[in-house]
Amino acid sequence: MYGFYGHGGYPFMFDWTYLLVFAGLILSLAASANVKSTFSKYSRLRSATGMTGAQAAARVLHFAGIYDVTIERVAGNLTDHYDPRTRTLRLSDSTYGSASVAAVCVAAHECGHAVQHQKHYAPLVLRSTLVPAANFGSTMAWPVFLLGLIFSMQPLLTVGIVLFSLAVLFQLVTLPVEFNASSRALRILEGSGMLGDSELSAGRKVLRAAALTYVAGLAASVLQLLRLIILAGGRDRD
Ligand SMILES: [Zn+2]
Repeated sequence: MYGFYGHGGYPFMFDWTYLLVFAGLILSLAASANVKSTFSKYSRLRSATGMTGAQAAARVLHFAGIYDVTIERVAGNLTDHYDPRTRTLRLSDSTYGSASVAAVCVAAHECGHAVQHQKHYAPLVLRSTLVPAANFGSTMAWPVFLLGLIFSMQPLLTVGIVLFSLAVLFQLVTLPVEFNASSRALRILEGSGMLGDSELSAGRKVLRAAALTYVAGLAASVLQLLRLIILAGGRDRD
């Protein structure tokens, strides 16, 4: 990689390590396409009870003994989320009023986050604690790292790598939070009899596809981190 730096020591866009970023991008795009097609497939499967995403969310929350969470509608597709600050569950246009198995499962997954919040689920607490550090890390990592490359200062390169690692750590902690929300959701959907067996297996596919987007996101970031380490190492030997 030595030769790719030219005389100024500035990495060109086409240095080979860019392939790592490219591979990450492909993984993320594939995961995103997969969740969209899986969701769209099971959006056409109407739930046997005929209940909508919003109705399902209300039932799941009550089943879990939660009565202080508000359910709202939010614009967009797959923009569903639980906001712990306001204890609000926001369901997207494609979930809120839809009586499909996909909608019920996504709504129940968001309820899973509300349950985690209520129970102070450790990975969720850790994740919330990491938010400021992760935001700072992802904003500052590249500027600091580039200054390190331009001025050939190893300490700046190291700081850039550490900053980027904070963002990666955040994504890593997100994984158990997401998988756990889905397993809570499926357990409640099964235990309350809201979904039958074949619906549950369809729901599992939808939620697994959604979780894979977080896995792909983490993989993409790890590849970028690896790239930074390789670039810093190349600098070292200059
Ligand atoms: Zn989630």
